[in-house]
Amino acid sequence: MQPNRHILFIAVLIISFQLHGKQTSVSSNPETKGVFELVTLGSTGGIQDGNLSAFLLRTLSEPNYIALDAGTLTNGINVALSNNAFENLPMQTDNTLSTTGKILHHHIKGYLISHGHLDHVAGLLVASPEDNNKPIYGLKSVNQTMSDTYFNWQAWANFTDRGKPPLLNKYQVIDLVPQQTTNLKGTQLKVKAFSLSHPLESTAFVIEYEDNLFVYFGDTGPDKVEKQGKLAVVWEYLAKQMRTKKLRGVVIEVSFANDQPDNLLFGHLTPKWLLSEMHYFYSLVADKQQIKDMKVIISHIKYSLKSGTNPRLKIQQELNQGNTHGLKFILAKQGQLLIL
Ligand SMILES: [Zn+2]
Ligand SMILES: [Zn+2]
Repeated sequence: MQPNRHILFIAVLIISFQLHGKQTSVSSNPETKGVFELVTLGSTGGIQDGNLSAFLLRTLSEPNYIALDAGTLTNGINVALSNNAFENLPMQTDNTLSTTGKILHHHIKGYLISHGHLDHVAGLLVASPEDNNKPIYGLKSVNQTMSDTYFNWQAWANFTDRGKPPLLNKYQVIDLVPQQTTNLKGTQLKVKAFSLSHPLESTAFVIEYEDNLFVYFGDTGPDKVEKQGKLAVVWEYLAKQMRTKKLRGVVIEVSFANDQPDNLLFGHLTPKWLLSEMHYFYSLVADKQQIKDMKVIISHIKYSLKSGTNPRLKIQQELNQGNTHGLKFILAKQGQLLIL
């Protein structure tokens, strides 16, 4: 009896050791270290110039960011610098440039533009005379808006490689084909673009690195109001991907509090509508823990001029009240660094 019990004990020890080993290899890397770094350059959906929709995303394995919209650029970099949001970034040495200049020239490798509204591109436009060569990625209609509306030698000089001549060829404009994978130059990231409903075509960018995913949603209305089913396409795609890959975070908009009537949403979400969309997404995902672990970063809250109102606080309360699935909502804040 004694030798048998001994063998049993050793067997249990080996199995539990293996299980433990497996658990740590799955959970320690994702939760403690993270894979992506997200810096918020601008968090509002207007009207606060200097703090308009813009984020930087990179993998922790390389010092190269991709910009997700660029409503605010230089000022966003400066606010992020003063918040030490670049403290993990191995900074390129270049004695000719300021730190802001080094980040803009050496560490931002391209722009993903969700749509042509000014609050998503103003920072890129005003910085363009001092920017260096890099690609601008967007859906065809988005790139067309940029050419027709801004880079047309009227609103602004044409710094791109298409549209009204003469072409200054600083920005290589790349048309993204919906739901087709494109490598983001100068980074290890890949992107897949999905069309979103908004007064003009908007975009969700699904970013992929190895078996990790991140999604940036440009402005979007809820499917039940827009009646085009475009968010459902993204949720269904993600739910499928999440069987083998890990979705680490999403940036998604909530422009107004719940008292905004549906006929005055203009292609935006409220807490009620975001929760409704997240409920649908939750229902599709097999691994519920994965959806609870991912960070849901709320962007595009409209700045209010009304006295005695705090849209951020109101939206936060409304999201918390309806958060029956225990999702991790984080309100984007300019200059904030998040590890996902
Ligand atoms: Zn916007
Ligand atoms: Zn918009």
